[in-house]
Amino acid sequence: MPRMKVAVAGAGIAGLALAAALSRAGIDCHVYEQAERLAEVGAGVQLAPNATRLLHRIGLRARLRSFAVAPWAIEMRRWDDGSLLQRTPLGAPCRRRFGAPYYTVHRADLHSALLSLIPAGQVHLGARCVGVTQDGDAARLRLSDGSTVTADLVVGADGIHSVVREQLAPDQPRYSGQTIYRGLVPAERVPHLLGASLVRLWLGPGRHCVCYPVSSGRQMSFGATVAASDWREESWSARGDVAELAAAYAGWHPDVAQLVEAAETVSRWALHDRESIDRLSSGRVTVIGDAAHPMLPFQAQGANQAIEDAVVLAACLADAEPDDQSAALRRYEEIRLPRTTRIQRQSRENAKTFHLADGDAQRRRDTSTRNSSGLDAHDWLFGYDAGQAATTSGSS
Ligand SMILES: Cc1cc2nc3c(=O)[nH]c(=O)nc-3n(C[C@H](O)[C@H](O)[C@H](O)COP(=O)(O)OP(=O)(O)OC[C@H]3O[C@@H](n4cnc5c(N)ncnc54)[C@H](O)[C@@H]3O)c2cc1C
Repeated sequence: MPRMKVAVAGAGIAGLALAAALSRAGIDCHVYEQAERLAEVGAGVQLAPNATRLLHRIGLRARLRSFAVAPWAIEMRRWDDGSLLQRTPLGAPCRRRFGAPYYTVHRADLHSALLSLIPAGQVHLGARCVGVTQDGDAARLRLSDGSTVTADLVVGADGIHSVVREQLAPDQPRYSGQTIYRGLVPAERVPHLLGASLVRLWLGPGRHCVCYPVSSGRQMSFGATVAASDWREESWSARGDVAELAAAYAGWHPDVAQLVEAAETVSRWALHDRESIDRLSSGRVTVIGDAAHPMLPFQAQGANQAIEDAVVLAACLADAEPDDQSAALRRYEEIRLPRTTRIQRQSRENAKTFHLADGDAQRRRDTSTRNSSGLDAHDWLFGYDAGQAATTSGSS
């Protein structure tokens, strides 16, 4: 007999990871997704050891290996002459140090892998959440077709524009002034970037570009930021203009210019974030992933944090006494808030330092970047074990 019934709004990485972790713990969980079909966007995502160790534990070790790329290093370079600012070793040194790999993957592959862990019939499509109500005995997810789902706990995994978050905070997403063009290029169209598998970043005045291989190396995924005061579109399907992108990167190192020119289509995405909130739950309602702590993607940790949230929340619920769900939610918040708040702040900070105009501040950044090469600086981020945090005292 399941002890608890959980209803989740949103089948993104957070919602699917939670459903997978809860199913593994024997907790009944149904996911309600607004989209009519599950089709993750054509883009890549970097998965650091803090998330891959959790994905391994929930049963995806072999599956991940079948499509992931394990880059050899992250290289940060200057925008114009391509000179090296920093090389962070990944590959074997990273695996040895943190006990788990650093992977770059296609989002659709990760999505399908998570979905494969969820029992059939537990993800409901075309189910848009329009509100949440609760009383002492139950929480209710209201869907746009007028129906209601009743559960012991409602979890908002409904992304940055979360409807469920409205139960916790009245805030709104804030536009960062930056947009990002994303594209996938067949590997053979960028021969200059093949050879060693790398995550490559080029930093320049007001913008930066990142690229890495995905789909077992068959494609190169890239993201290139462009500041824009007037762009508000926030959808993966919003088409970007390849010519505009190429013009924005004119004069950059040929490696970058050739990469963006090799894209046939690109999506354009307005980057938003929100201030941290001081609680993650209210009664029988809680939030995870971007619904809880959206962050600018300048540390490549949003999805990683969503996976950490899912594993911790599932562990707290699995350990809870049947009549003490509120203690489980308090524990989830105590473990997660300090860490996600720190990462949100750091991601916002990177937005400034990545985009410095050439000059004194940029030279100081480059000197300190060169001096901080190596994995030591990543111990707090990659070395963190959210599963362990959930079974011991808690906060990061
Ligand atoms: C350009 C870019 C690059 C990034 N790169 C990385 C990276 O390399 N590594 C990393 O860790 N993170 C990265 N991130 C961040 C990462 O993509 C997000 O943090 C992560 O996808 C959040 O997952 P989520 O499931 O919380 O939210 P989402 O992915 O937004 O999923 C929310 C889901 O809920 C559904 N939904 C929304 N509203 C409702 C509703 N009312 N009812 C029902 N369903 C609803 C949506 O359709 C969607 O399926 C990047 C982000 C961007 C923008």
